[in-house]
Amino acid sequence: MGRTHDGLPASEGLAFGRIRRLDWEVPRVPDRSIEPDQVEAELDEFRAALEWARGRLEQIREEAARRLGEMEARIFDPQLLMLRDSEVVGGTEKLIERNHFAAPRAFQLRMLELKTLWARTSSAMVLDRLNDLEDLEVRVLHRLLGHPEPGVWADEEGPLIVVARNLTPTLTVQMDPDVVRGLATEQGTRTSHWAILARSQGIPAVVGFVRLDNGVEEGQEAILDGRVGRLVVDPDERDRTVYRERQVRIREWEEELVQISRLDAITLDGHLVSLRANLDLPSEAERARDRGAEGVGLFRTEFLVVGRNAMPGEEEQYEAYRHVTESFPNRAVFIRTFDLGGDKFPSFLHMPAEENPFLGWRAIRVCLDELELFRPQLRAILRASVHGDLRILLPMVNDVAEVIRVRELLREEEAVLRSRGIAFSTSYKLGILVETPAAALDAAELARHCDFFSIGTNDLVQYTLAVDRSNARLANLYNPFHPSVVRQLHQVSRVGQAAGIEVSVCGELAGTPLGAFLLVGLDIHALSVAWPNLPEIKKVIRSFRVEDARKAARRALAASTSEEVTQALVEGIGDAVDLAAFSGRWSLSIP
Ligand code: PEP
Ligand code: MG
Repeated sequence: MGRTHDGLPASEGLAFGRIRRLDWEVPRVPDRSIEPDQVEAELDEFRAALEWARGRLEQIREEAARRLGEMEARIFDPQLLMLRDSEVVGGTEKLIERNHFAAPRAFQLRMLELKTLWARTSSAMVLDRLNDLEDLEVRVLHRLLGHPEPGVWADEEGPLIVVARNLTPTLTVQMDPDVVRGLATEQGTRTSHWAILARSQGIPAVVGFVRLDNGVEEGQEAILDGRVGRLVVDPDERDRTVYRERQVRIREWEEELVQISRLDAITLDGHLVSLRANLDLPSEAERARDRGAEGVGLFRTEFLVVGRNAMPGEEEQYEAYRHVTESFPNRAVFIRTFDLGGDKFPSFLHMPAEENPFLGWRAIRVCLDELELFRPQLRAILRASVHGDLRILLPMVNDVAEVIRVRELLREEEAVLRSRGIAFSTSYKLGILVETPAAALDAAELARHCDFFSIGTNDLVQYTLAVDRSNARLANLYNPFHPSVVRQLHQVSRVGQAAGIEVSVCGELAGTPLGAFLLVGLDIHALSVAWPNLPEIKKVIRSFRVEDARKAARRALAASTSEEVTQALVEGIGDAVDLAAFSGRWSLSIP
């Protein structure tokens, strides 16, 4: 058997290829000085390298705009601006002119000064800007030193599985999906910007490997499973057969799934489930619709802020929300307000460095403190409500006061729009993501102020079990089938029913066969799943009876361990669903 490494799934799909290491790191720069009469030539060389970098970035930006949309392409603007920034350019030129440093040495030193300065003055909030700066530094230094550009491979070198410590958005977008078939990294999370871009480009990715320098060699054959979160290096015949068969099965299945996407998400005994899509980018709306989404259960809006050096304008947001809303006429579209903090720090917000960012200034807490950021988002949503059935989804709410405050703000922004004569609708709904035990336990109080609940199991599991969802070392402890989670799901479902408000689930749990089975069994009839999973989950829903799901859910609720919960579900679903075909992380059928 090949050597198996486990990480965390970040982008779906199965990839076969040869390992190629990508060291996107600042190269070693020789300690070289120049003679005074070489200054002009050295300055010319430096400027030429900047010019080349500008050309490259513009090319990548254009490519990103073509493949992913103009809005997404804006993540490259900070680097393009840095290329004209006098602190970057002038600072380096001075070191060449006055200290007679060779261009690479001068540039590296200047970058170091800036990184130190920024890191000291504004701590965690500049993470993104530091990443941009480092990205630029690596690109320009490789050019100045005459090294080949990292991350660029010819067609004949593929198919490749790229192994790196971490990646950046620019790198991910510049990769050709025909050559780079998979990505494996030690750092980064599913919500890292580059991972979002990998998903949009259909490149399978796994993050959070503990050590990839151990037994993973350049040129080795490998298989990457982006759904399970696994890298098999040097696979033997058996591995190859298992995965090839799985690939064939997925292809056959995909054909079948195309047919399924046109059918209703209805159980064998006639219960309709609203099956909606989770989107990370507006450009995914069409793909979600083609795969049969009946609306959008979670539109994450962080793409508008992460990696940006300026707040997104109301107009730009309005266009994005309108685009998604209009893609789903007569269907519900849940727009989640900015979920910043945790691992997402935009460079324009002064976010303090925190010991525990996931327990810190995050999500609704940030929005309610940073009204300059929040108010334009609310206005943009109110305006987009004219075009469809919009629902405002607030992340990480613990307390009714937070909901009451948002209602107040909405009324104030309605007045602003009215005074400006701008059209908006008041028919939107307002609700919360239930993603902390506080919200789940206090659901009855919250229900009095909310039009709906959407359960965010990704965070609910993390906060209930006190297990960091982005720590691959703890992946086996991160179990959504823990009895404490199942009981909270049940509690929120019951409270929602009693209050007459819709309860949906938009965490990854809903996108797994056993998860969907459990949730429907708990009388949750609205699920929102990552858009690539839509047809599979629809097929699952069409394969079982609600009565069986309820029976299994009752057994799961009486279970005392996660294993008993899973067993109850596996037995309950029986032969109705071929779990082996899914091989999801919690479906017990990983080869
Ligand atoms: C969740 O926490 O379950 C959720 C859907 O939100 P995110 O994954 O963006 O934190
Ligand atoms: Mg969440």
